[in-house]
Amino acid sequence: MIVRRLVFEDAAQTFRVVLRDEVVKHMFRLCDANRTQETGGILIGSYSHDYTTAEIIEATSPPADSKFGRDWFHRGTDGLEELLVARWNSQPRTHYVGEWHFHTANVPWPSPQDKRQMKEVARDRRYDCAQPLLIIVCPVREGQWIVKCFVFPGGTSPAALRMVDDPEFDEPEADDETGSEGEA
Ligand SMILES: [Zn+2]
Repeated sequence: MIVRRLVFEDAAQTFRVVLRDEVVKHMFRLCDANRTQETGGILIGSYSHDYTTAEIIEATSPPADSKFGRDWFHRGTDGLEELLVARWNSQPRTHYVGEWHFHTANVPWPSPQDKRQMKEVARDRRYDCAQPLLIIVCPVREGQWIVKCFVFPGGTSPAALRMVDDPEFDEPEADDETGSEGEA
């Protein structure tokens, strides 16, 4: 499975979200493990000093006390506090930045329940995250996925970010390599 990092940007081009390739791979693996049930977890990462870029460096597996079904997912909390303390105390320091969900039906936008969850998160001081992100993964066909990114300023109406071409991959290919398109 060839996966490259993903970059999302808001309409005003003032805010970016960068998803590391390992993060994308981990989410795809979890979605692929059981395509009949939703899953998800939290997103851990950091912001640039000017808050214009969020880099997501970890998407967790669902905590053990999570509950899920074909078209719903309630993320549990088992072990999250300890995990977040450990990430905060490690180098580089990282912290909670949002949630990710697998939607088994091809519905790549937040459900009413998702919106309620993000509002609660934005208001819950323990998360210290006024502008949580939500990544939604949907199946397209075997081996192909849609990945969408939403930001919830103040926990209110989500803004969809659009995926942009990643300049890191615009380098011309070396002569001795045959170009090949990777399937995610
Ligand atoms: Zn959801």
